[in-house]
Amino acid sequence: MIQWDTHMHTTFSGDGHVSPSDMAKTAREKGLDGIIFTDHLDWDYMSEPGRFDLDIPAYYSEMKELQKNKNDDLPEILIGIELGLQEHLVSRHRQILAEYAFDQVIGSIHQVDGLDPYYESYYKGKDIYEAYEDYLGAAISNLSLFPEIDTFGHLDYVSRYGIRHFGAETGTLRYEDHKASIDKILEFLITKSIALEVNTGAFRCEMTEPNPSYDIIRRYYEMGGRLITIGADAHYAEHIALSFEEVRDHLSEIGFTQYAVFKKREPIMLSL
Ligand SMILES: [Zn+2]
Ligand SMILES: [Zn+2]
Repeated sequence: MIQWDTHMHTTFSGDGHVSPSDMAKTAREKGLDGIIFTDHLDWDYMSEPGRFDLDIPAYYSEMKELQKNKNDDLPEILIGIELGLQEHLVSRHRQILAEYAFDQVIGSIHQVDGLDPYYESYYKGKDIYEAYEDYLGAAISNLSLFPEIDTFGHLDYVSRYGIRHFGAETGTLRYEDHKASIDKILEFLITKSIALEVNTGAFRCEMTEPNPSYDIIRRYYEMGGRLITIGADAHYAEHIALSFEEVRDHLSEIGFTQYAVFKKREPIMLSL
């Protein structure tokens, strides 16, 4: 069983809707042992400037309070963050991680050349190959510059929204079509002991597989990767632990027996 959801958003995120305590209570009702809050910090988010400028001191202190008030209605709570990686933000991100003791740092690509694949503007003038290669290229360059993350969020995030633009049939990012770039990312993650995140938020975006899709997860396993984190990327309480059972079965079938929960930036391995 997957007893932890390690990726979720609260009202501290520019696109969050639910308070931290309500998210935590729902997680408990759903039977989880623990959760990691990972609100967005996307500095210089050009698609909507300022929207994801997390109030870090307020976020951190409220999460600390919630941790202290632990009771049976709440699961174990860890404090994480989802950093929107951009090449020019490296030193600012380093500073934040030196200043705040987060349990888990997710690194995610939400902006490629100042554009979020969530918006139509990202696809202007790009065919599907370019749209996806540009995204994977940004992942490689950002990871190389800033490998100090614990887990790499939703590797094929671009596909989550690309299917709206290119259609579900052709829009899914397939390993076969981007082998070299994907292998480069996976190799880097394995070498640096950065986890590959399995993000089930895909299931609320009309996808039938998590981000990344199973062919990419399978490739990671083949290459020797064993460090995965699992999160539903919930922005509403109802999405906490979304499709965890189904995903667990697929992961076991691929060969995984464990998943990681990062506490104080160190992975704790739990049985799937
Ligand atoms: Zn994200
Ligand atoms: Zn997220």
